[in-house]
Amino acid sequence: MSQIELKSVDYCYSLGEGRSIKALKNLSFSIEKGQFVTLAGMNGSGKSTLAKLLNGLFLPSLGEVLIDGVSTKDENSTFEIRRKAGMVFQNPDNQMVATIIEDDVAFGPENIGLPREEIIERVDYALKAVDMDEFRTRTASKLSGGQKQRVAIAGVLAIRPEILILDEATSMLDPKGRREVMGIAKKLNEQGITVINITHNMEEAVLSDRIIVLRKGRIAIDAPPKDAFASGLIEACGLSLPPVLQLAENLKKDGFEFDNQILFEDELAEGVCRQLN
Ligand code: ADP
Ligand code: MG
Repeated sequence: MSQIELKSVDYCYSLGEGRSIKALKNLSFSIEKGQFVTLAGMNGSGKSTLAKLLNGLFLPSLGEVLIDGVSTKDENSTFEIRRKAGMVFQNPDNQMVATIIEDDVAFGPENIGLPREEIIERVDYALKAVDMDEFRTRTASKLSGGQKQRVAIAGVLAIRPEILILDEATSMLDPKGRREVMGIAKKLNEQGITVINITHNMEEAVLSDRIIVLRKGRIAIDAPPKDAFASGLIEACGLSLPPVLQLAENLKKDGFEFDNQILFEDELAEGVCRQLN
């Protein structure tokens, strides 16, 4: 059984007066436990809507979303599904509920009524997991954007999720903050947490096992990064290839040849060096 399964899912937003807009159209796919998935697509393609369907915040208008085989429509499982799939959003300043960092991370476990010792243990674990332990008694306002997003991830981790959904969580960060957050996501994934990273940034996508690209509410690409980049469809979906691949493409026009689809800088450097000698 897949951890996440969508069966012919439509999602419609009601616009009032009987009008509606269909944001997701007949989506069917599954995600296995422990996968690192990039979910990409232009603005308005349906990414955030899909994310909210995965943690039961939205229910499908048609079809079904199953988490570990249980439909998000099953009212008895709403709480469990929200716990399983934790979300971090775009704006680092909108996600803090407390001034002091450890209080912020404790908010989730306190809210579900866990005993004091358990809360302390979870806050401890979560702050260490995002490398923010040394900041625990500081105020959030003094942190960088990347650090704030790491605290937001800690807040989700304190609920012990099995799926971490990052909805453009790096889009307001500088390159350093971006790298910090992606580094943490990768580490958590290696520890077994399924990661769904929503992004426009195809450099982040090279870290993932799989890229799903939405176009107008449908799946346009669903492939490992190398195949997705080689498909020629990335640009047609309004996205840009990572700079390393763009450089490789330009070098090919200048007569360089590469055996395999280039994904990382060191692969490109190695290929170029070989041909210069
Ligand atoms: P993305 O996250 O990829 O930018 P969204 O999931 O936010 O896309 O939006 C998908 C589509 O649904 C868009 O056409 C958007 O305008 C529409 N939409 C999103 N939220 C609402 C809403 N609350 N009410 C009406 N339409 C919405
Ligand atoms: Mg969005």
